Amino acid sequence: MVERLRAQGIRDERVLDAMLRVPRQHFIDAALAYNAYDDTPLPIGFQQTISQPYVVARMIELLRAGRELGRALEVGAGCGYQAAVLSHLATEVFGIERIRGLFEQAKENLRPFRYPNVRLKHGDGSQGLPQAAPFDTIIVAAGAREVPLALRDQLAPGGRMMIPVGAGGEQQLVMTERVGDVFRESRHEAVRFVPLLSGLE
Ligand code: SAH
Repeated sequence: MVERLRAQGIRDERVLDAMLRVPRQHFIDAALAYNAYDDTPLPIGFQQTISQPYVVARMIELLRAGRELGRALEVGAGCGYQAAVLSHLATEVFGIERIRGLFEQAKENLRPFRYPNVRLKHGDGSQGLPQAAPFDTIIVAAGAREVPLALRDQLAPGGRMMIPVGAGGEQQLVMTERVGDVFRESRHEAVRFVPLLSGLE
């Protein structure tokens, strides 16, 4: 999988190393193990999917360019896979998931790894996590119609957020960087994510 990520253009060795350390197979149903390292999203139950490895790597590579991830918020922790990858690159990872069943699953999946810097929360991440803000990094694993202002405002100075933005299942990766009190946006790859929803389940 990592050799393929390299061939697909991922250049950040620390991202490639983090992806090498986390067995994606551990985070999905045993019946899908044969496909664990394919470059596709896979079902994780509750009509949600674990993201495509390339997209996970690319989002983190763009966020890291020229800096460290620092304290990171992941909105949409799903099965916990991306939180595990982030644990190797960030000082602290706060993962938030709105579906209780997935939140429990992510906790269970992460337990054997004993990552000391990962914390999971059951909650609506579209409002961020004010009690732990500000964050140097915010990574959203679900597609929004626009960049949620509540999340943007929880960026620390110099902080960056990556979020898929678009309507009708077609999105584009949008990076927002806080420079003083100004927010700079840049647009990247086209992607397909499940929708960012509000409220709990
Ligand atoms: N990063 C995950 C991918 C999960 S898919 C992984 O590695 O497995 C996206 C997840 O976002 C889904 O589990 C969905 O329930 C969750 N989600 C959608 N809207 C949310 C919200 N407002 N707050 C928290 N989680 C949300």
